[in-house]
Amino acid sequence: MLLKIGEFLNKNSIGTQDKLDVGIVPFNEAITNFNELNIVFDDVNKPIPKMEICFVDNTIPNDIIETIREKTDILVSLGSCISFKADLILPGISVSDDFLNNVVTAFIEDDLEYLKPLFVMSGENDFRTKTIKVTLDNELCVGCSGCAFICPNVAIEMKNTRPIIDFDSCVHCGCCFMICPKSWNLNEEVEAWC
Ligand code: SF4
Ligand code: SF4
Repeated sequence: MLLKIGEFLNKNSIGTQDKLDVGIVPFNEAITNFNELNIVFDDVNKPIPKMEICFVDNTIPNDIIETIREKTDILVSLGSCISFKADLILPGISVSDDFLNNVVTAFIEDDLEYLKPLFVMSGENDFRTKTIKVTLDNELCVGCSGCAFICPNVAIEMKNTRPIIDFDSCVHCGCCFMICPKSWNLNEEVEAWC
């Protein structure tokens, strides 16, 4: 199973075997239903093998993350409040099983279009709210209120059909970026801006 996503990441061929070797810590049963995956790592107290993809959350100590980073082709963060560099970030205070299933399916199907916004999110830690700011600065906001509706910390208020963000209340979950129908069209601008 060859992932062309590796080309997008400027890495060598990823997943040349029949199945993808995957790690997930802490372990989550949501990804055990895929015949295309070998779960080869699910406990930070065990040796860290080479992996194609590894999902981690921010409870893992940074020195262990660094070793995982060296051993895995694609590092995915479960949640966006992180102090390390991931290749993809799945937003949410707690990433839902459905979303995780969709992401794994996208990997298996090499669906870069689905995954691309999650790659774009892997910038600096305060990138998520600033993405909305970029949306506003570029006058692309259509006033749909999606960002205000989705924000788990009520950090966004709509005024005159535009979102006002209380940055002190923002917990960098990235949900506003994911829900915004315009931020997804901003890849080039966002990359230039970062
Ligand atoms: S503004 Fe709200 S939804 Fe957006 S990143 Fe911050 S906490 Fe998350
Ligand atoms: S989700 Fe995007 S388009 Fe909708 S109100 Fe927020 S910034 Fe504007």
